[in-house]
Amino acid sequence: MGACHASCTVCGSSVTGLLYEKFSLEMFQCRNCEVVFTSPMISQTDTLARYSQRWFEQEYLPSYGIDPHHPSLAHLTARYQAELAPLELFRETGRLLDVGAGAGLFLVSARSAGWSGDYFDAEFR
Ligand SMILES: [Zn+2]
Repeated sequence: MGACHASCTVCGSSVTGLLYEKFSLEMFQCRNCEVVFTSPMISQTDTLARYSQRWFEQEYLPSYGIDPHHPSLAHLTARYQAELAPLELFRETGRLLDVGAGAGLFLVSARSAGWSGDYFDAEFR
């Protein structure tokens, strides 16, 4: 993580670092409580405005390497299987809940690995 001057939105710690940039937003992580946040924080109105069909097709899908006119998730399988692997240690019911799931791409891959469950995120409009 790089250095930054954003204070944690949860615990208030000033020991935070730039983690990555996504959709033109800088994402920071608190080194005290590990929460990930944007700085400056964007409003709920601005957040929901990002969930437009235009944004979905022109920013979201391309960020995953998906052509909105010919969508395929095949190239994401290895990535998501690697993210699923650590969850196997805690697998009891085979069900998971993906919070902040975006379009639910992770759950689609999880289902192909035998998981079931649901996802939750803002609705695309
Ligand atoms: Zn914190």
